[in-house]
Amino acid sequence: MSSRRWRACPECDWVTALPVLKAGESAHCPRCERELVYRHDAPAQRILAYAGSGLFMLLLTLPFSFLAFSMTGINQEIVLFDAAQAMFSNDWPILALLIALTIVILPGLFLVAVLYLYAAIAMRTSLPGTLFLARMLSGLKPWLMTDVFLLGVLISIGKLTGMAHVEIGWSFVAFCFYVLFLVKTVSLVDADWLWFALLHEPMPPENARTGATATSQGLTGCPTCGLLNKNSEKACRRCQASIVAPSSFRLQATWALIIAATILYVPANLYPMMTTVTIGGTIYSTILGGVLQLIESESYVIATIIFTASFIVPIAKILALSYLCWLAAHPQPMATKRRMRLYRMTEVIGRWSMIDVFVVAITVALMQAGLILSIYPGAAAAAFAAVVIITMIASMTFDSRLLWTAVGTTEQGADTSGTIEQENYGR
Ligand SMILES: [Zn+2]
Ligand SMILES: [Zn+2]
Repeated sequence: MSSRRWRACPECDWVTALPVLKAGESAHCPRCERELVYRHDAPAQRILAYAGSGLFMLLLTLPFSFLAFSMTGINQEIVLFDAAQAMFSNDWPILALLIALTIVILPGLFLVAVLYLYAAIAMRTSLPGTLFLARMLSGLKPWLMTDVFLLGVLISIGKLTGMAHVEIGWSFVAFCFYVLFLVKTVSLVDADWLWFALLHEPMPPENARTGATATSQGLTGCPTCGLLNKNSEKACRRCQASIVAPSSFRLQATWALIIAATILYVPANLYPMMTTVTIGGTIYSTILGGVLQLIESESYVIATIIFTASFIVPIAKILALSYLCWLAAHPQPMATKRRMRLYRMTEVIGRWSMIDVFVVAITVALMQAGLILSIYPGAAAAAFAAVVIITMIASMTFDSRLLWTAVGTTEQGADTSGTIEQENYGR
């Protein structure tokens, strides 16, 4: 038994002994090529710098003017929270909460948790609540949507410049830096380093071997910290997260979520996303209707982005997940790497569909109850937001390890030299 750090690939379940890594090096799964670990250089110091700057910029985005617009003598100025406030005052409290959570509250919580945790690690002291926060961090990552919101703001500005004069405020400038620092912090926070720094690495279970799946040995990789555990243990020996062995129950849950998203996709397309009331009358624009209006006004780039994010991506994601679920129930011993690429794609692209919901929120906030025209959010915005969230949860519940159950155990060489102590875990 080597004293190396062992991992079961979270996507294909293959057990590997990690090599000793230097800063800037990464280890990949020999079977499905998923990156298992990337060793950052002096992560604690850099994360503290980025997270601190990000939190400072977040505080700066709140009080000042975010966007201002003027049209035929009417001036309107909004702060960041007005995007949520506009939804709230139009009787969509759920959408208001969604915007406040994904843009300000969860990212703020993430940055504070990161500062607290990494400060404790850098000072080599133990502070209360660190294990809970460390478990929470990886779960929060997909729900931080500031980058998607920023693209939504840029699209809203692009849409409105045709009919009004739009100016960006100081708060918007701070917001851009906030997004930049947050994205950098998220990319640097990695569970492998974090848990090693907090609780070091316990030895792998006895009789575990590399070059086979964990399931075939009665083992499971911890979804939170990566440690290899026996299935008989209910919680991870290191981080105390619950251990989930591959099961058909999760496949049923994914199917149920796909069906729910498909049903909601119908009202999301039939009802209006936005209602525009002018002196000349009322215009209801659905997702596709909005795209056609953009094409008529020759905003081809914006039309393409909205059409892709709101129409193609959700359908493609529902189809891809259905196909993967079907494959998981009928495993075939071939071309699984390509399927893994499909699966990874469904995980990455889904959140970008939220763009149109953010565009509606910003447009409504800017053009609320104007004298010449008013814009209101439609029922489709809520249905569509639900589709995006449900498909995101569906790809999280999908257990890609099931795709590999029929794939043979072609022997992959595992280098087992070196020990845990030799690794450079610089702070
Ligand atoms: Zn793998
Ligand atoms: Zn764990």
